[in-house]
Amino acid sequence: MTFSKLGLIDQLQRNLDTLGYATPTPVQAQAIPAVLAGRDLMAAAQTGTGKTAGFALPLLQRLTMEGPQVSSNCVRVLVLVPTRELAEQVHQAFGEYGASLPLRTHVAYGGVSINPQMMKLRKGLDVLVATPGRLLDLYRQNAVKFEQLQTLVLDEADRMLDLGFSRELDEVFAALPKQRQTLLFSATFSDEIRALSTTLLKDPVRIEVSPRNTPVKTIKQWAIPVDKKRKPELFLHLLKKHRWGQVLVFVKTRRGVDELVDILLAQGIRADAIHGDKPQPARLRALEGFKNRDVQILVATDVASRGLDIDDLPQVVNFDLPIVAEDYIHRIGRTGRAGASGMAVSLLCADEAPLLAAIEMLTGQNLQRNAEQGFEPDHRVPETNASGQVVKKPKKPKLKAGAFRVPSGR
Ligand code: AMP
Repeated sequence: MTFSKLGLIDQLQRNLDTLGYATPTPVQAQAIPAVLAGRDLMAAAQTGTGKTAGFALPLLQRLTMEGPQVSSNCVRVLVLVPTRELAEQVHQAFGEYGASLPLRTHVAYGGVSINPQMMKLRKGLDVLVATPGRLLDLYRQNAVKFEQLQTLVLDEADRMLDLGFSRELDEVFAALPKQRQTLLFSATFSDEIRALSTTLLKDPVRIEVSPRNTPVKTIKQWAIPVDKKRKPELFLHLLKKHRWGQVLVFVKTRRGVDELVDILLAQGIRADAIHGDKPQPARLRALEGFKNRDVQILVATDVASRGLDIDDLPQVVNFDLPIVAEDYIHRIGRTGRAGASGMAVSLLCADEAPLLAAIEMLTGQNLQRNAEQGFEPDHRVPETNASGQVVKKPKKPKLKAGAFRVPSGR
């Protein structure tokens, strides 16, 4: 299968050649013809499957070949995404895939000044990538209009609902023309997402490229049992032992992220943090630093776990397990992308056993545990079973009053 077989125009083909994309990924092979034909789409595709090009390429083609010039403050394609990082990344992808096409694209998210976004919208945009909250701000201030909207893309729809955007989304949907193309991408399909899809989509083409809730196969995963207080020491040990290059590390709390970064910096290791308390420019700087390899270790909370598109990342470390089991799949989706192989290591302490059980139930696989010599925990990590439960050790029978214990060793 080649991209030319999918009916893409020469300009797009050339851009793909420049990027070195030789063959379409499965989601692209299915999505591109459907989107070109104007169909609605319901795609179960996680990050790393090439889904962004799956919708961006055919939409860029339709925008170039069809339709009127965009009028002032109007947008023709609206892509809604859950986070600022993903917004930047999707916008960048449109820029790369659509290089040299005569199209206007821009990105809008909160936490930065709204004025430059309003200025860009004045001349109208062919593609606007936005987070729901900021889009509504723009809409309420009449800075964006939807008369010319032809396609709505919901990227990582499950994440948008998880982050509590459902009211904002309803308000956006109410403002959009009924006659339009809608593309819904989601890593997982909860009942809520299915309900959303029945109200939004008309006779959609359904695409499922990777079985539900299954991590990409090429990722080698294991957990190392360790006492909580020794996790930083274990991380430094692994870094040296495996001679890891760049590592993306996930930590549960913002404070935990900062603490680990401080420990790494004190060891002379180039590390930076990305989490919700950091101002947007600092987050982007950290991400850029990591992408251009100035930063060796990027430590993040789950805010950053989706949407980070970093090429050839061989190593992800779960310093803490995620609270929401599905985030495990998204976190380790940073590695092993587009067929590359990767490693995902989880540092596992005793009180994380219930989180591990939930992950194992979701993925349908037991996470292999490999002890690390010298780091065996004092607090044993309980076993988990296939039904997502922590196996409790049988309690010792209580001694009755008057009974006495036979001293052992006699
Ligand atoms: P996505 O799932 O859209 O976040 O894409 C995952 C990664 O795969 C990105 O780094 C893309 O640049 C890359 N990619 C997407 N499509 C292809 C392709 N057909 N061939 C090679 N790499 C690709």
